Amino acid sequence: MKNEAKSIDITGQKLLSVRDAQSAHAAGASRILVCENCVVTPSARDFLAQNNIALVSSAASKAAAPAAHADAAPVTGLSAYGANSGAALSRTAPNPKLFFTPEAEAIKKEICAVGRKLWMRQFVDGNGGNISYRIGPNEVICTPTLVSKFDLTPEDLSMVDLEGNQIAGTRPRTSEIFLHLEIYKAVSEAKSCVHCHPPHATAYAITGKVPPNMVIPEFEVFVGKVAISPYKTPGTAEFAQTVIPFVKQHNTVLLQNHGIICWADTVTHAEWYAEVLETYCWTLMLAAQLGTPISRISEEQGSELLAIKKKLGLPDIRFDTSRMKECQLSDLEVPNSIALTPTPCDGGTGRPAEADLEALIKSVTDAVMGAIGSK
Ligand SMILES: [Zn+2]
Repeated sequence: MKNEAKSIDITGQKLLSVRDAQSAHAAGASRILVCENCVVTPSARDFLAQNNIALVSSAASKAAAPAAHADAAPVTGLSAYGANSGAALSRTAPNPKLFFTPEAEAIKKEICAVGRKLWMRQFVDGNGGNISYRIGPNEVICTPTLVSKFDLTPEDLSMVDLEGNQIAGTRPRTSEIFLHLEIYKAVSEAKSCVHCHPPHATAYAITGKVPPNMVIPEFEVFVGKVAISPYKTPGTAEFAQTVIPFVKQHNTVLLQNHGIICWADTVTHAEWYAEVLETYCWTLMLAAQLGTPISRISEEQGSELLAIKKKLGLPDIRFDTSRMKECQLSDLEVPNSIALTPTPCDGGTGRPAEADLEALIKSVTDAVMGAIGSK
């Protein structure tokens, strides 16, 4: 191999940060191909100059040397953010100044108010629970570690980029921020996440069961099917990734043996969903003590609720008609059961084989027929 100039193509990015420059240097590049209006940060410019890396505008390179692309070695994954999605390549460098804008100050106050709500309702204990808000494409304001949500002040909050690197704030960010960040990366509509440990919902999470549906209208509209993600050690990347398969179609997920996470368009709304789920779980448990079967909303009336939900733009796995079979399966539970084994529609353990589905339908049908017969 001759000592040819190695090029890295980042024409897909609008901004070149010092991290991009460092990645290019590490990859042995002597020039970086950028789009015409690419913004280069001052530190990136300094780094490139120190390391003799040339910047070539894509427009200039096309005009001057049409063959330049032939020996260019475009490097995918150039971004130093370490994410594996294509979207990460176009992620902008985080802007710490966003932390001090009037919008950020308002969000900080809202996070503190929501923190107090969570504590007052006993949804968090000790320093438990965390709240975040995505204020920019690569900037997330979040609660710090080791502070009770009752005691939060705006000065306690911090800001991270989408990889969890702290970019503003004096207190260290929550160690569970990665859970929130996976949701922001997976769901573009998600602007805020609230994670907490409300006792009745967490009771479901520690038994690995999910509540039945079509009992209370508000729950169907605002939460609906609640997924359950498998247990992993909190704070780890593995834990954070457990929610990925569910969060596009569920705004609320039970975290097995842990608690819950909700996402929404605002901090306040994400906390509402926690309240709606917790109250629902609590009410079901109270009703179970009455010893009388729970009456259910009919299929027809249920579809009216789902129509309202669709209008509100809220996600629900039951909108996915190809998965209706799995979703209906959850409703074939033993009568009066308030804790159901999750099906793939509730998160569960993945799509079962057709034979397993048939066996499950048969066992549920047998239980229903048995219950009817014993009356
Ligand atoms: Zn937790």
